[in-house]
Amino acid sequence: MSTHKSSKRYERQMNLQSLPDNFQDLLRNSKVLILGAGGLGCAASIYVAAAGVGKITVVDRDTINEPDLNRQILYTPEDIGKKKAKTCVERLHKFNPDIECVGLAKEINDKLLKDLVPKHDIVMDLCDNYSTRIKIAEACQKYGRQCVVAAVNGLEGFVMVTDKGSACFGCLYPDEVKLSVSPPRVLGAAAGNVGVLAAMRCILTLCNVGKVGVMYCLDFINMIIDEIEITKSTNCHVCCKA
Ligand SMILES: [Zn+2]
Repeated sequence: MSTHKSSKRYERQMNLQSLPDNFQDLLRNSKVLILGAGGLGCAASIYVAAAGVGKITVVDRDTINEPDLNRQILYTPEDIGKKKAKTCVERLHKFNPDIECVGLAKEINDKLLKDLVPKHDIVMDLCDNYSTRIKIAEACQKYGRQCVVAAVNGLEGFVMVTDKGSACFGCLYPDEVKLSVSPPRVLGAAAGNVGVLAAMRCILTLCNVGKVGVMYCLDFINMIIDEIEITKSTNCHVCCKA
C-alpha cells in the first residue's frame, strides 16, 4: 500500500478547479493497468506515476531496440536488449518512489487479462496490434472496467475512454485497418502528445471527470483536436456478445 510520505510532492495539484476535494486520495487508492510500454506507454506511465496513482502495473513482452529510442523516452542506449516492462517500472519507481510499480515482461493474452484486469480499476490499452486490442476490449467489457484506448500513426493519433455500456474499440474498428507502411512511422513528439493525453484521460476518469465513449482525434500538422461521439454498434463482435 502506498504511504505517500512526501505530501509536498503533490501540493501543486491540490485544490484544482473542477476536480473533487479527495482527488489525491482517489488517485492514491487507484490501480492502473498499462498494456504496452512503447512510445505511448512511456509518455503515459510517467504522468500517471507523477500524479500519484497508488499502483501501476506495466505489461510488455518486448525488448528495447535502437529504433524505439526516437519515441520511447524512458529508455536510453544502455537499455538496448533489456525488457521494456522491467526498465519502464525501474524509471517510474525512481521518479516516484511513493508508488508501487510492477513490470511484467509477458504476452498480453486472455489468461493474463483474466488475471490482471479485475485487479485494477482502469486499463490503458497502449499496445500496437489489432488482435491484442480486441482481447483487451473483450476483457474490459467482461470485467466491467473502463479502458483508455490510444493509438498513434505518423503525425496523427486518437484517445478514447470506453466503459461498460459505451461504444468499445470493436464498435469503432470491426476489422483490422492495414497501415500503409510497416512498421508504422511515428514522430516521437506525436507519440508523446497522445500518450500524455491518454494519461490525462486516465487520471480524470479515475475521479469520474470527463466523458466516456468519446474519441479525441489529434491532427498534429494542423494542430486540431476533433471530438467524435462514438456510436455503439448493434452488432459489435466485442460488446454485443451474449
Ligand atoms: Zn463494441
